Amino acid sequence: MAGTPVAVALGSNLGDRVAHLQAGLAGLAPLLDDLRVSTFHDTAPVGSVAAPTADQPRYLNAVAVGTTRLSAPDLLTHLLRIEAEQGRERPYVWAPRTLDLDLILFGQARIDRPDLTVPHPRFRERDFVLAPLAELAPDWIDPVTGQTVADLLAALG
Ligand code: ATP
Ligand code: CA
Ligand code: CA
Repeated sequence: MAGTPVAVALGSNLGDRVAHLQAGLAGLAPLLDDLRVSTFHDTAPVGSVAAPTADQPRYLNAVAVGTTRLSAPDLLTHLLRIEAEQGRERPYVWAPRTLDLDLILFGQARIDRPDLTVPHPRFRERDFVLAPLAELAPDWIDPVTGQTVADLLAALG
């Protein structure tokens, strides 16, 4: 049986960003079959009025896609472990981070748990997720809106 197609977003804006993304990809490799990786995108930090990020260093972002036989909660547990192995700390919301791994899409699943929401609730407004994801899977349909990744990216303008 083939696994479930998944998309994971990677981000780093602390320390050696390339090394952190590469360590994240090395951590994903045993979890995902048919792993494909986007180019690395250098992006401005995005925050909110409540959690400003204007004074933070720039991010390096990428997306990885593949298939997995893990459940979504089990995959998230692995993502949090890989982050921790890169020294990830969470002093406050949207703090600078060595490595962030977000589960963006899990096939066509919709998951709403206290510790796991899939599709990721904020990915549709994030150019730094949609642009690298569109390199790999422009036709993937968001099960919430019915729009493709390419549609969502185009809607950002
Ligand atoms: P954002 O979610 O806005 O990108 P963030 O990545 O900085 O912010 P974190 O501190 O990394 O947020 O994550 C906080 C918690 O979010 C995680 O411990 C995890 O339980 C939860 N979470 C819920 N849905 C997801 C998801 N789809 N991918 C990753 N984490 C998720
Ligand atoms: Ca994130
Ligand atoms: Ca995260």
